Amino acid sequence: MPVRLVSAILDALAALAPVDCAGCGKADRSLCVNCRLALQPAVTPRSIAGLTVFTALRYEGVVRQTVLALKENGRTDLAKPLGLALASALSRAAEPGAEFAAVPTSRAAWRRRGYDPVALLCRRAGADVARVLVHDHRTASQKTLGSADRTSNVRDSMIAKRTLEGRRFVLVDDVLTTGATFAEAARALRAAGGEVVGGAALAFTPRLFGASQTAQ
Ligand SMILES: [Zn+2]
Repeated sequence: MPVRLVSAILDALAALAPVDCAGCGKADRSLCVNCRLALQPAVTPRSIAGLTVFTALRYEGVVRQTVLALKENGRTDLAKPLGLALASALSRAAEPGAEFAAVPTSRAAWRRRGYDPVALLCRRAGADVARVLVHDHRTASQKTLGSADRTSNVRDSMIAKRTLEGRRFVLVDDVLTTGATFAEAARALRAAGGEVVGGAALAFTPRLFGASQTAQ
C-alpha cells in the first residue's frame, strides 16, 4: 500500500477513534493545548559532524512522548504539530539551490511502521524532501548501543541510490542522539558526489548533546 494512503488512513482512524493526548495522556485530545504549547520550537544551531544543524525542540518530556507516539504507536496525526516545529528548523537551514535530503529509515523500521517518520514530518512541514539514501545492509537497532558502538554500527551503512554529482543538500533527521547516524548520512551523500551544506532536525537529545555543542 502506498505510504501516503497508509498515512491518510491512520490520520482518519485517529480522528474517528477516541485518542488520548500523546503528551500527557489526557482523554479525548490528540494533543491537548498545554502539550501543543510544549512543541513551540526554539531553533538552535548546533555543530554536528562539521556541519551547522538547526534543531527545533529538546527531546524530553512532552516532546519525547509525542515523537515516540508518532514513531512507535502509529500516531501519524502528530506529524502535523511536530511538522510545524520542524518547519522552523528547515526554514533556518534552507540554502539557495540546496535540496532537503532525508536521513533514511531502516528497512526493518519501515516494515514495522509502514511509513517513514522523517519523510512524513517533512511533508507535514510543507517541504519537498529527496529520498536519495538507503540502508545498504542490516544494522542492529541503535537504541541499545552506546556512543562508540553507535558510530561503528552505522559506518558505511548507507548508500545513495544514484550519483549525486552537482547536487547540494541540507540533511534532515527527526531526533539527533549522538550524531552518528547524521554523520553517516552526510558521508554517503558526499561519497555519491553530493555536497552537504547543512542540516536540520526536529529534536536533539540534551543529555547527549550538551549546551557546549551549540554552534557559534
Ligand atoms: Zn497533553
